[in-house]
Amino acid sequence: MTRPTVSLIEGDGIGPEITAATVRAIEAAGGQLAWERVDAGAGAVAKHGDPLPAATIESIKRTQLALKAPLATPSGGGYRSVNVTLRQHFDLYANVRPARTMAGVPSRFTGVDLVIVRENTEDLYAGIEHYIDARRSAAESIAIITRFGSERVIVYAFEYARRHGRRKVTLVHKANILKMSNGLFLDTGREVARRYPEIEFDDMIVDATAMKLVIAPERFDVIVTMNLFGDILSDLAAGLIGGLGVAPAANIGAGPVAVGDAPAERPCAMFEAVHGTAPDIAGQGIANPTGLMLSAAMLLDHVDQRDAASRLRAGVTAALASAETRTGDLGGRANTAQYTDAVIRAMPAT
Ligand code: NAD
Repeated sequence: MTRPTVSLIEGDGIGPEITAATVRAIEAAGGQLAWERVDAGAGAVAKHGDPLPAATIESIKRTQLALKAPLATPSGGGYRSVNVTLRQHFDLYANVRPARTMAGVPSRFTGVDLVIVRENTEDLYAGIEHYIDARRSAAESIAIITRFGSERVIVYAFEYARRHGRRKVTLVHKANILKMSNGLFLDTGREVARRYPEIEFDDMIVDATAMKLVIAPERFDVIVTMNLFGDILSDLAAGLIGGLGVAPAANIGAGPVAVGDAPAERPCAMFEAVHGTAPDIAGQGIANPTGLMLSAAMLLDHVDQRDAASRLRAGVTAALASAETRTGDLGGRANTAQYTDAVIRAMPAT
């Protein structure tokens, strides 16, 4: 089997602890990956005077794959968010956030199993804003929606559904009010849906979606939506399954970014936990590595190492189910190393 090389960013705060645990679990699951360790975030500032050194960008350009632990971002002032810079640099246009309820993770719901695919580059996040006068009596923010940007993320959502055996794609919008921008996204969705007759397609207004997600989350399978709605709904979905602590994410790109790059077999992709650096518990050996482990399972799926991905998920699911083996943030009694041992013990034999 080929052994894809992955740029590994250990991150700040609890990052190195959850990264070590995750690498151990991937290897135990039979994942065949080679690691290229690179720096980013506050650690990289201390070491290289730059939160995103050129060597890190070069590494991801080469490998087209990154597994990233959380990075500290100074709020107000300081350097620009490395996460945002990476997203823009590699044109990571699709943010994929699965939300599935798991035994042992306290939540108000059961039976949630959905995936939100969020467009990651356009909409109000294009950053086009201005005050209309010097007195700042009003401000305008412009939402950009293009047919190109809409089509590629909607195609990604359908391809994801096909690859993962999911039955339905729901496109979320506000085209009843924003008839042009959101209308364009919806029209593009209807067009793309015709190419995938085996996958059910429907659309829903965003406000109705917010209500239905908390009344009947089980009615959703894959949701595809624009940047702002996706930002809000993906955190809502994380809330349905017990919060951001255990949520994984993938950022999928369009392929090689520089002229002269060899064509990539698969698009550039970066996998990361959704939670932050948890500075309050860093260095204590008690952090919960579930979010990064489940992100690593998405990475293994992405490189077609499906069996290793399933084994890793099965180990996590089993270790979370018992208070003896889950970590303290989830009311358990295990530390990071004990939880990781339990994940590995519970993996089905290869
Ligand atoms: P946070 O997610 O780091 O912490 C919030 C709370 O959740 C804390 O009490 C923390 O101890 C707990 N927690 C988070 N992850 C945990 C884990 N894996 N195991 C156990 N407990 C966990 O959020 P914050 O405090 O708002 O942010 C801290 C730093 O993280 C900031 O610098 C912020 O910019 C950064 N951040 C980075 C990312 C990223 O790189 N993707 C995302 C969010 C926040």
